[in-house]
Amino acid sequence: MKKFLDNKLFRYLSFFLLLNSAIHPVKSSSALAAWEIKSNGVLELRTKSNTNLKAYFQKANQLYGDRFWVDFPGELKNPRKIIGNGQIKEIRLGKPNKGKTRLVIEFKEDTYLKPLTWRLVGLDENRWKIKLFTPQYSFKKIGEGLVVKRIENIKNQKSIYKKSDYHYLKLPDVKQNKFSVVIDPGHGGPDPGAIGIGGIRETDVVLEISKILKNLLSEKGIKVRLTRKNEVDLDLPPRVSFANNIDADIFVSIHANASRGKRRDINGLETFYYRGWRGRLLAKNIQKQILRVSPGSPDRGVKQGRFYVIKNTRMPAVLVEIGFLTGRLDARRLEKTTHRKRLAYAIAKGILEYLYKVV
Ligand SMILES: [Zn+2]
Repeated sequence: MKKFLDNKLFRYLSFFLLLNSAIHPVKSSSALAAWEIKSNGVLELRTKSNTNLKAYFQKANQLYGDRFWVDFPGELKNPRKIIGNGQIKEIRLGKPNKGKTRLVIEFKEDTYLKPLTWRLVGLDENRWKIKLFTPQYSFKKIGEGLVVKRIENIKNQKSIYKKSDYHYLKLPDVKQNKFSVVIDPGHGGPDPGAIGIGGIRETDVVLEISKILKNLLSEKGIKVRLTRKNEVDLDLPPRVSFANNIDADIFVSIHANASRGKRRDINGLETFYYRGWRGRLLAKNIQKQILRVSPGSPDRGVKQGRFYVIKNTRMPAVLVEIGFLTGRLDARRLEKTTHRKRLAYAIAKGILEYLYKVV
């Protein structure tokens, strides 16, 4: 059980952490700049920009209580211990080995923790947060340094999204004004597609994601066309001929799934292509990225599928299934705009990486 917990947590955490995978220079000083456990049980960190973090959780043993720790590159100068309060027994800053910094939070014995729900989230290129516990009684914040201090660089942020949300996920650059992409939001109009938990409709979800995706790719100098911009009834052949007529470089159809019998335990993401290594590569790139923003949701893989829109388009074409609207885990996420934005971002990243590699 312990092993299971640890592995599972690591999978969740490492996912978010590895998003920030820019190379960091080999420097000796610690990448940890400031940390604070707030009175609501949230740990906030400030690091050097583009730092790779690794986080771990371990259940109590004979020597220690439950522990959560984060490893940072760069060596800590002064190892130290800080006495906690409330559920926190002690905080230790150390160097587990040369050139590394480790921040350990040890909890008191009777603390109720749910590590499986923990998410370390990048707020910015140098700020992170994770909710560790809910204080039972009043908890006094503990910390060192200023976690909110950061270099403001808002002027050249033309992005339509809050910097804090997406800055840490950098999209690759491709040649400007060279590529043309057709995004196809599935269904529409009288055909709502899948209907999920709480009446959530596929047509609405995929249209919003497609519009965000269009903006993200447009910002990268790509010519993006949507097969539909609103709730219209659009048959499949016009979607295909639209893409074929403008001779798009790639075609991406976006859908959400429903399981037979509306089983709430079925969740997962999958991406289809019809033929060719280019289609397959595009599908693989997108699938990899959408999984990263959907931790815990099963990887149903990259598959060949005979869907009309990918079978009849002449360019590399994929059909992305971004999750199950009937699945408990996926539906809860897909109803939120924040998750839709993340998915749009992920699909954009997959597309850009493909274009960068292949065309
Ligand atoms: Zn669909």
